[in-house]
Amino acid sequence: MKTIALIALILCFTRENNIVYICDSPTAEVYHLNENCRGLKKCKGELKKITLDRAKSLKRRLCGFED
Ligand SMILES: [Zn+2]
Repeated sequence: MKTIALIALILCFTRENNIVYICDSPTAEVYHLNENCRGLKKCKGELKKITLDRAKSLKRRLCGFED
């Protein structure tokens, strides 16, 4: 039974490991898939790594500069 719990935990972690990047600024409205995205270059705040789920819960949309 412990094995099943462990597998479930790993699966959960893998899914949450869907990382995106955001500029931590009050005016920023998007998230980025690429850390080196053009859209992040003009970010004056702090660059943060968060999960995609978290980005969506923050009402962020996908950045328009993604390649
Ligand atoms: Zn971007």
